[in-house]
Amino acid sequence: MNYSQLVQQQKKAVWEDQLTTVSKRIEYLKTLRTLVSDNEKKLCDAVSEDFGKPYFESFSSEIYTTVQEVDYHLKNVTEWAKPKSVRGSVTAFPSKNYIYRRPFGSVLIIGPWNYPILLILQPLIGALSAGNTAVIKPSEMAPATSACINSLIDEYFDPEIVSVAEGGAETSQHLLSLPFDKIFFTGSPRVGKIVMKAAAEQLTPVTLELGGKSPAIIHEDANLEVSAKRIMWGKTFNAGQTCVAPDYALVHENIYDTFIDHCKHALNTFFENDYKPGVNYTQIVNDDHFSRLRELLKNTEILTGGNTDTERRFIEPTIVRAGWKDEIMKDEIFGPLLPVIPYKDTDGMIRQVNRLPPPLALYIFSEDNNFQDRIMNEIPFGGGCINDTIVHFANPNLAVGGVGKSGMGSYHGKFSFDTFSRPQSILKKQYWPDP
Ligand code: NAD
Repeated sequence: MNYSQLVQQQKKAVWEDQLTTVSKRIEYLKTLRTLVSDNEKKLCDAVSEDFGKPYFESFSSEIYTTVQEVDYHLKNVTEWAKPKSVRGSVTAFPSKNYIYRRPFGSVLIIGPWNYPILLILQPLIGALSAGNTAVIKPSEMAPATSACINSLIDEYFDPEIVSVAEGGAETSQHLLSLPFDKIFFTGSPRVGKIVMKAAAEQLTPVTLELGGKSPAIIHEDANLEVSAKRIMWGKTFNAGQTCVAPDYALVHENIYDTFIDHCKHALNTFFENDYKPGVNYTQIVNDDHFSRLRELLKNTEILTGGNTDTERRFIEPTIVRAGWKDEIMKDEIFGPLLPVIPYKDTDGMIRQVNRLPPPLALYIFSEDNNFQDRIMNEIPFGGGCINDTIVHFANPNLAVGGVGKSGMGSYHGKFSFDTFSRPQSILKKQYWPDP
């Protein structure tokens, strides 16, 4: 495929050919909805082939969430796209003043492997809703899903509206050298830097959805049974391979042992010590990540779990007692290992969290409003939950995005529409009166 030519055709489709008017956008969003719902099984099977994700997990986190997002845009896009009248100013009296929302043109969307349907199609919904055309590049690390998305997009869309580029880093870098009008990247902070450098060469605006070490903070007053259940659920969903998974837990020292007991109990309730990758649990995506995670367990004090199986790329949910200087606290874990660090005083705990880059998510477990306020006011983080984990990602009314090294810009629902469009100001006058 000649992507250079394709980008020009996609720009022309937006501007000269007027193929992304609001009525056309609604048509494309409906097409995307049909693509997903008619091929739900095919798509989930592809994810299962890639890394043994159970059908129910794929359905709930990839299919349902994508359809929910399309429906939200279908319901609202007409209103969002209307020019908004704003007050005039004395200096240009009399005049009418409007804010139009304009698309960027042809956008490039690069996705990660861990939710390989959702994280490529959810930005695409925003791009189409805001009137852009798009080239999407799924991750090569989920090759069956990438191939499935490629063939479905090819079947349902004209390439001048949406096209898929398959491949790894080289394909990505070639695409990054082209004059796209906007780049939306989801992936690691390491590759995020490469993307931003390339975008700087073309002065292309970027949105970066990255990762980081997202803490769960469990205060002394927390309901430990429910907190443990919700944290272990967030940590074991997709085997911890979730950007907003709780990466590590900070637990007040007075409740440390009881919290760990509740975590063990929660795991037992979920899996009854019978982990079946592909049925009730997810595999680690590939051998490299499997080895990396197994290495992280070396020289740790394992409190529960620790079993691994190379052939099935299985890592049992594992809780370790940890300290701030441990190897497991250096980078994002992205797997089912939960280091739990005890803390004594809130001041010291906040200082320690702030020594790490600002996380993508943060979870507070406490009913003490003062404690909740202190954490939210004194630690910068992307977004999160109070007394739950990861579910904020599934609400189209909430913006998802990081801060600092965990990303820039946000999306979902109206935030996606805004991310993929720009305000254009127009001041309109008559020839008369002419003060
Ligand atoms: P990754 O950065 O390795 O890869 C992401 C994409 O970048 C892939 O499509 C890949 O082909 C491409 N890529 C890889 N190397 C490249 C290079 N040198 N030049 C240009 N492109 C390149 O990330 P991953 O392993 O797929 O995903 C895991 C990371 O993504 C984690 O850090 C996780 O936290 C983050 N993530 C963030 C979100 C979010 O919403 N913020 C969601 C999912 C994952």
